[in-house]
Amino acid sequence: ASSAGQAPLDASLLQIELTQSPRAVPAPESPEVAAQKTCTDHMITARWTLEHGWHAPELKPYGAFSIMPTASVLHYATECFEGLKLYRGFDGKLRLFRISRNCQRMRKSAARIALPDFEPKELEKLIIRLCAQDGEKWLPKERPGSFLYVRPTCIATDEALGVQRPQEALLYVILACFPDMTKSKSAPAPPALNGASNGTKKAPSSGLKLLASTEDSIRAWPGGFGYAKVGANYGPSLVAQGEARARGFDQVLWLFGSESYVTEAGASNFFVVWRNKTTGRLELVTAPLEERIILEGVTRASVLELTRSRLSEAMGDVEALDVVEKRFTMADVVSAYREGRLVEAFAAGTAFFIAPVSLIHFRGEDLVVPTEEGESGVYTRVVKEWLVNIMYGKETHEWGVVV
Ligand code: PMP
Repeated sequence: ASSAGQAPLDASLLQIELTQSPRAVPAPESPEVAAQKTCTDHMITARWTLEHGWHAPELKPYGAFSIMPTASVLHYATECFEGLKLYRGFDGKLRLFRISRNCQRMRKSAARIALPDFEPKELEKLIIRLCAQDGEKWLPKERPGSFLYVRPTCIATDEALGVQRPQEALLYVILACFPDMTKSKSAPAPPALNGASNGTKKAPSSGLKLLASTEDSIRAWPGGFGYAKVGANYGPSLVAQGEARARGFDQVLWLFGSESYVTEAGASNFFVVWRNKTTGRLELVTAPLEERIILEGVTRASVLELTRSRLSEAMGDVEALDVVEKRFTMADVVSAYREGRLVEAFAAGTAFFIAPVSLIHFRGEDLVVPTEEGESGVYTRVVKEWLVNIMYGKETHEWGVVV
């Protein structure tokens, strides 16, 4: 995959230096884990230079590394990253979920930000090697259902301040302790909800509460880089996210254009289940990928594939769903809501997993999304169960890659 004459990324060249000072594993609910600063004992690094290509990757003790103040990444956001999890299964095995997808997406992101190309399979091998090294200790067998967050990253480390394609880069992989976002939401409960709330419905106590973005805060646009997992998509989203948190919401619902197309929710893809006004059939709807303003989530793809294969016909009492990737607007959501056709909404991504959405605040109005006893609706629950079963080995499936 590399240019002619350059050494390709090669996991078989891995050099190993194990830590002399192993650290204690924090308890899952500890403040240390909540702080998201604790990583495991080791990390993977691989240097790339224009003259040589990829140097031999290393597995070595986790720790700081130094780069020059002029490094490209610090000025021009020449970086991309990935996010996936290593799961401790209920059968005692360690698994990664669809890791090949993350490695392929990382390659795509690297290409968008002028970082070096690599064979995704080699990155996959390096990640698996690191997970095998640290997973046993950091995800104790006595804690089935726990996970580590896997963060592959690539940064341009060029010392040249000139604005140009990077000539040096560093690829690295770390494993971080990460709180279970599905257990406790980090945001406080919303304050008294202002605006013209639908008087008959009470504000729900659980589920994600989303604040729809306004036209001065667009996450991604056609011709941009919303489809790539580059840091440049995230830093500029923090003002809107901070404002949403300060107002008691959990995440921003990113809208696009004067038509208010619904795109994503925070760092997750967004799904609604509604009854189609014309056909009367239930639909699972999410924004399409063609305009390249949506990140193609691994969870998104999995929700779509599983629902297409498992709910094209009714499952007992659960009505079948048509699965649709299409543009839809807030006006569509509002009319489904007003006409009682809005059935459920959820966010889907690695960090928040499958999170029911209970409220959307849009232009001064609260849309209270139906949930089952304030938890999740039946579709949100079923989809989540399917995925949990695969991730934690309750169902044997090719998506669950045993480490
Ligand atoms: N959208 C955005 C903007 C994200 O950052 C993420 C997290 N990677 C997702 C969606 C969900 O993707 P995945 O299911 O692969 O975690």
